Amino acid sequence: MNDNTIEISQVSRRFGKTVALDDVSLNVPQGIVMGLIGENGAGKTTLIKHVLGLLRAKTGGVRVFGLDPVRDPVGVLGRIGYLSEMRDLPEWMRIGELMRYSRPFFPSWDQAYAEELRETFELDSLQKIKTLSKGQRARTALLMALAHRPDLLLLDEPSTSLDPIVRRDILSAIIRTVADEGRTVLLSSHLVDEVERVADSVAIIHHGQMVLTDSVNKIKETHHRLTLRFDEPQAGTPQLPGALSCVGGPLEWTLLCNGQIDQLKDAARTLDAHIVEQSTPTLEDIFIAQVKNKAF
Ligand code: ATP
Repeated sequence: MNDNTIEISQVSRRFGKTVALDDVSLNVPQGIVMGLIGENGAGKTTLIKHVLGLLRAKTGGVRVFGLDPVRDPVGVLGRIGYLSEMRDLPEWMRIGELMRYSRPFFPSWDQAYAEELRETFELDSLQKIKTLSKGQRARTALLMALAHRPDLLLLDEPSTSLDPIVRRDILSAIIRTVADEGRTVLLSSHLVDEVERVADSVAIIHHGQMVLTDSVNKIKETHHRLTLRFDEPQAGTPQLPGALSCVGGPLEWTLLCNGQIDQLKDAARTLDAHIVEQSTPTLEDIFIAQVKNKAF
């Protein structure tokens, strides 16, 4: 049995001269929270649009629940909850009307849960959508993505416009609950600390290329910040295998490296360097080092 909710293999996409996706592959196993992180314009939304079948893969392939989302939109879209970056909602409806209108489209719509979310988000069912603040609009869009208890929740920059309490406490709790129930979450964000708080795995995308995909634990285990001290001044940056960034000099240098710690220690020894400090970098530090490293 295939337990990947999403399978993207070797998808490329151009918009004129812009390469939005460059040979991207990504598997998202069922029941996990996958954080998709990248700078503005990295290709996150374009990837999500392929998952939704809004864009057809011109090269490579996309499968969601084992189905082609372009050929089988009914089989795929009914099981997806999508929070778009645009938070697009029908302006002329009231919140309660939107909930009643959307319900028949989703056999799995859970009215009790929808009402619970509405109360948690402090939304008035009689309020017209066109009069909502940005934050209320974001909460309404989130409610609509969640209320049918989708098998796959796609959240594109979910924190935008949400206040810190909803963002940190409510959103994180909802995302974790969805995954704990065996459903899958793909969370796109440029806020790395937010992704680190909630994601099991992370995919880093940069200029349309997948730079790194792994579980957060594995990424943390295989990235190390080391400060090396030399007895003699060093003319150039010390060469450690898997070094992504290096600052300092001429006697003391701090490196962020990708690799096994024992091998890095051996390599430092062969350079006659003393390791004076060793720590685990944050995911944000790793993201920046990986992305900057790709820039050269
Ligand atoms: P952001 O965090 O800013 O939303 P993103 O990672 O979601 O960015 P995308 O929206 O996927 O990035 O865009 C990737 C690249 O493709 C960008 O350079 C963008 O300008 C370009 N692009 C996306 N959609 C189109 C389009 N319809 N026409 C032309 N260019 C596009």
